[in-house]
Amino acid sequence: MGQGVLTAAFPRIDRVLYCEAVPLDRIASAVGTPAYVYSASQIRDRLRALDAALESVPHRVHYTLKANSSRALLRLMRDLGAGVEVVSGGELSRARHAGYSPSEIIFGGVGKTEAELCEAIEAGILMLNVESESELRVVSRLATSLRAPARVSIRVNPDVAVDTSHDYIKTGERGHKFGIPYPDALRVALLAASLPNVTLVGLDMHLGSMIANSEPYREGTARLVRLCREIRDAGVRTLEYLDVGGGFGIQYEEEQPLDLDAFAAAVIPLVREVGLTLVVEPGRYIVGESGVLVTRVLYRKASGGKQFVIADAGMTDLLRPSLYNAYHRIEAVRAVDRATVVDVVGPVCESGDFLALDRVVDDAAPGDLLAIFDVGAYGYAMASNYNSRRRGAEVLVEGDRFAVVTARESYEDLVRLEIDQPEWRS
Ligand SMILES: *Cc1c(COP(=O)(O)O)cnc(C)c1O
Repeated sequence: MGQGVLTAAFPRIDRVLYCEAVPLDRIASAVGTPAYVYSASQIRDRLRALDAALESVPHRVHYTLKANSSRALLRLMRDLGAGVEVVSGGELSRARHAGYSPSEIIFGGVGKTEAELCEAIEAGILMLNVESESELRVVSRLATSLRAPARVSIRVNPDVAVDTSHDYIKTGERGHKFGIPYPDALRVALLAASLPNVTLVGLDMHLGSMIANSEPYREGTARLVRLCREIRDAGVRTLEYLDVGGGFGIQYEEEQPLDLDAFAAAVIPLVREVGLTLVVEPGRYIVGESGVLVTRVLYRKASGGKQFVIADAGMTDLLRPSLYNAYHRIEAVRAVDRATVVDVVGPVCESGDFLALDRVVDDAAPGDLLAIFDVGAYGYAMASNYNSRRRGAEVLVEGDRFAVVTARESYEDLVRLEIDQPEWRS
C-alpha cells in the first residue's frame, strides 16, 4: 500500500511521501501536526493549463477565493496574472491585502450587505455580480450617493441541470436561491442599463461544483449568448464580459475530472460569436489537488467489531467528509506494507467526526503520519474552532524549500475576541 496515484507534486521517493522535493515527515517535525501543505508548482501548472486551454479567445481567470483564501496562495496566483472572485467584504479585504487591484476583483454572492456593496463600489472593482432586482436597485442608490458609478454583471440562473456528487453543490437549477431566473433576466438587465450610476458590463452564471461534463457549460453559455443578443437588440452596447462561472470537477476518487479542452471547445465558439471577453471563476480546479493535510495517528482501537485509527486531525480541520460524505485518499507518509479496513476518525466529540469510514488504508500505528490528499480547496477555508481546537498551520513548498505561511493558532488566539470586563449598557 501507500503506492497510490503518483503525481509530480506529491512523489513517493524511497518509501517516503514528498511535497515537491521536501519529505512530508520533515515538515511535520518542524511545524507539528495537523498541517496543510501546498505545492506551489501544482498551482502554477493548473493556472497555466487553464490559460493555455482558453488562449484562442480573450479571457480572464478569476480564482474563487472561498476555496482557499491564504495570502501566500493568492500572491502566487497574482504573480501569474490571475484575478479573483470574492463573496464577502472579508474576502474583498483579503484580496486587497494580497495585492489585487480593484480592476482584478469580481464580487458575487446572493446576500451582499449595503456596507459590503459600498466597499466594492468605492474601490471601483471590475464588476459586481448582481443576483436580484432588489439588489440592483440598492446598488444604483448607493452608487448615486457615493457619486461612484457601479459596474454590474447580471448573474443569471440558466436553469441547466448538472450531475454533481452532492445536492448541496448544485446552484444553477430552477428553485435554487442563486441568480436571477432566466425568464426575468432580460428585463432585469435592461433595468440595469437604465438605472442611474450603473453600467451593465457583464452576464454571469455559476452552475455548481464538481462538474465533469462540458455539456451544461455549453447549454448555459448558449443561454447567456442569446440573452446578450437580446440586450444588444434593445440598444444596450456596454457588455464586455461573459462569465461562465467555476465548478470544474477534479478527481478525488474515481470521478472524471472536467476535460479542459472539451470545455474550451464547448464554450469558446459561442463566446466568439458575440465578441465578449470570456471569464472563468474556478476555485477547486486550481487549488484542490495542490494540498495535503498531514496528521499524526494518536491511537488505534477496536470497538464494536470495528477498527479505528484516531488521528490528531478531524472535522474541525477538514469538514468535507462529515459535511458532504466526501472521499479523500489517505496514505501513510512512510510506506506501510500492510493495509486494513478502518474508520479514520478525529478527536472531536461528535460521532460525525471522521476522515474516512470503512476504508482500506495503510495499517498505521500510533505516532505514524498520514497524508490526506486533495484538500487544497474547501479544506483550511472551512476549518473551525469547535471544541476550542486551534486551527493548524499552513505550509507552502517551493522545490526543496518550505515555509509556514499561516501560523498554527495559539490558545491566546482562541479567546482574543472575548471581553473580559463586559461594559454593561441599558
Ligand atoms: C464557489 C463558487 C465558484 C467556484 O466553485 P469551484 O467548484 O470551487 O470551482 C465560482 N463562482 C461562484 C459564484 C461560486 O459561488
